[in-house]
Amino acid sequence: MEEVRLQKAIANSGVTSRRKAEVMIEEGRVKVNGETVTELGTKVKQNDRIEVDGVPLSQEEKVYILYYKPAGEISTAEDERSRRTVVDAFERMDVRLYPVGRLDYDTSGILLMTNDGEFTQYMTHPKYEVRKTYRVKIDGILKREEQKQMRKGIQLEDGVTAPADVKVIRDKKDRQMILELTIHEGRNRQVRRMFEHFGLKVIKLTRISYDFLTLEGLGEGEYRFLKPHEVKKLI
Ligand code: URA
Repeated sequence: MEEVRLQKAIANSGVTSRRKAEVMIEEGRVKVNGETVTELGTKVKQNDRIEVDGVPLSQEEKVYILYYKPAGEISTAEDERSRRTVVDAFERMDVRLYPVGRLDYDTSGILLMTNDGEFTQYMTHPKYEVRKTYRVKIDGILKREEQKQMRKGIQLEDGVTAPADVKVIRDKKDRQMILELTIHEGRNRQVRRMFEHFGLKVIKLTRISYDFLTLEGLGEGEYRFLKPHEVKKLI
């Protein structure tokens, strides 16, 4: 995980603004792992112990969850149409969790949930390129030539897509098809738009893997905590 500047870590924890944190550092009021630090550029890691005026920054325990989102939940914290959100699914937990990225309302599958803002920023940064596999059921057939084009990249309104893996799982007598599509971009409604490009409607969309994580052992609406070694492997 990336290191952050000390003043940013203090500001992120909600103690004060970044500007005031800089003054506190220069006044010698801040310690990192027991040592007073007055250098403004100092970088700190997530596990470093920071104290301001002898008081440790509150370090809420970080929670990382793999959620099998069902279709019919919105993945923003609030919905103007009062639909159920993925955050509602965790309302009984005493930490507030947020989704890492988004899945459409009608999409099911893997959605990571966490209270670690830095982790979320890292995982959703375009340069990080997490590989995600989607199982896609379409109304119609994606022809061989079109599969080839999808593998190479196709022109969408927001640019050409990066090369994708396309695997045909089932061909239902020329009426419907089930495919697995692996991409590492995360554009809005990307999978649906890639099929719309060929005039095909996605009937069912499930994210079945996210980097090395899969849905194994989970049913729709269920979740599990990530193990520490899994979190480490992701970042
Ligand atoms: N692509 C989509 O079209 N929808 C999703 O929810 C995820 C990827």
